[in-house]
Amino acid sequence: MQFDLIIIGGGINGAGIARDAALRGLRTCLVERADLCSSTTRWSSRLIHGGLRYLEFGELGLVHESLQERANLLRNAGHLVRPLPLLIPVYTHSRRGMNTIDFGLWVYDLLSIGGVLPGHRRLSRDAALAEVPALNPDGLDGGILYHDAQVTFVERLVVENALAARAAGATIRTYTTVERIVLEGNQVQGVMVRDSRSGRQESLTAPAIVNAAGPWVDRVLAGADCPMPRFMGPTKGTHIVVRRFGGMSDVACYAEARSDGRPFFILPWNGLVLIGTTDTRCDADPASVHAEENEIAYLLAEASHVFPGARLRRDNVLYAYSGLRPLPRQGLRETASITRRHQIRHHGRTARGLYSVIGGKITTYRHLAEEAVDQVVHRLGIEAPPCVTAELALPGGGGKREDLLAELARIPGLTAASQAHLVDVYGVRAPAVAAMTIGHPDLAEQICSWSAAIAAEVVFAVRQEFAPGMADILLRRCMAGLSPDLGRTALERALPVASRYLGWDAARLTEEREAFEAEIRVLDSSASADPVSA
Ligand SMILES: Cc1cc2nc3c(=O)[nH]c(=O)nc-3n(C[C@H](O)[C@H](O)[C@H](O)COP(=O)(O)OP(=O)(O)OC[C@H]3O[C@@H](n4cnc5c(N)ncnc54)[C@H](O)[C@@H]3O)c2cc1C
Repeated sequence: MQFDLIIIGGGINGAGIARDAALRGLRTCLVERADLCSSTTRWSSRLIHGGLRYLEFGELGLVHESLQERANLLRNAGHLVRPLPLLIPVYTHSRRGMNTIDFGLWVYDLLSIGGVLPGHRRLSRDAALAEVPALNPDGLDGGILYHDAQVTFVERLVVENALAARAAGATIRTYTTVERIVLEGNQVQGVMVRDSRSGRQESLTAPAIVNAAGPWVDRVLAGADCPMPRFMGPTKGTHIVVRRFGGMSDVACYAEARSDGRPFFILPWNGLVLIGTTDTRCDADPASVHAEENEIAYLLAEASHVFPGARLRRDNVLYAYSGLRPLPRQGLRETASITRRHQIRHHGRTARGLYSVIGGKITTYRHLAEEAVDQVVHRLGIEAPPCVTAELALPGGGGKREDLLAELARIPGLTAASQAHLVDVYGVRAPAVAAMTIGHPDLAEQICSWSAAIAAEVVFAVRQEFAPGMADILLRRCMAGLSPDLGRTALERALPVASRYLGWDAARLTEEREAFEAEIRVLDSSASADPVSA
């Protein structure tokens, strides 16, 4: 098939580029080897943030760009991206004192001028303890309260970018691997792809290709018809998820690790607590990385210094995940100092029309996409309209929560929890999901008591949101798979729905169950736990 642009990778960057390109009229194809958002984007801290820490490395430009994009996302995807208050506790032993942090946040506030979030505040010891009662009081001098934003369901941000791309005419091919980048002379011709399920090979042609394969960028380049340089120097980051504990409020903590002085987050998230992250060099196959026991132990020990009353132990860890930051190769410098600024490299000499995306953050994906599409349009010499995504709501964005809740309350059979869930997951598209239950009361039934996801979402995910399998539905569409039991209860209730409404036969149900269990095994920390420390 002939396209103007092929994008390799359905993470946040690939999906964002596909949306921008399609909106500007390019015949666009997005190719993803697995499901949308099945890699790095999903293994992140899920923050939409300026990156306070980047100020320490003088990255003022990156912080400014991130803060502008934070404002865009709060406006255009307000159902998914929400303000998050964070407290930085300052102890007598902290490496960064009150005045240093106060100054950093003063710059942060200055760079976010025009945004909607409140500025920072210095807190006394008592005021800090009032905000987060579980905080360790020993040696506490006080704290600083500031705001950033959180995208609880980052999977949905990717799906909505892909939906917007499709609505603008893009082709979205999931479970399709790019095996070869085809060149004629030094000009890109297209790619050879293989359907991961049928094994069928096919060629897709386009004069421009963006390699947005995250930590796989070098591996994708290795499949080009000519030798390519290596760009990537990934670092691994691990998170753990525990239940909320007494004295944990809705204020997140950005604390300094006792053992090495690294800042790390303790985040209220999805009714649970997300703790991370580590930052170590790692050249492993991105598909094989998982949380190691020493990383889990580090995060537990550091979180316990901040919240000793929580009595966090190995068996409190519900699940853990790891990902590779797709960072540029930068010698032996300290991992934290490797720039998080993205680069878009054109392989002009060897492969004209081929671009690789290196680095970047979820927060800045929209701006990265704008830059990438600007470059492609310029090279192709196409007359294309300017980028509109800074002002355009995502498919679920642009609604008022109260209005949507009132609309859903008029549909019989939905619990209040399910109404709230649908609005928080689908935004203005929630009424379309809820409408499926009219005349089909069984579709209004909850499949997950934690998330309050309903049966209709199983059908909606397959018919409307590119989800071919049960793991895709539960883990990356209706979000039941992020519950403490990783969606196991939801699986039992969702399989009969798929049988009834999607016609899955017994063999298919068994296959889907096995595929789901294989996927969550990596997250399920008990499976990898060392029995001695567990
Ligand atoms: C631990 C950690 C914490 C982070 N926290 C934050 C944060 O809080 N906020 C923030 O803004 N950023 C954060 N980041 C950074 C951010 O997550 C990444 O920079 C971003 O998600 C990268 O997105 P991507 O689309 O480039 O890569 P990915 O999400 O990895 O997507 C690349 C896709 O390419 C696909 N692919 C690979 N090879 C092929 C092939 N041959 N054919 C087809 N498809 C292929 C993969 O399957 C994958 O889905 C964090 C990163 C990590 C690791």
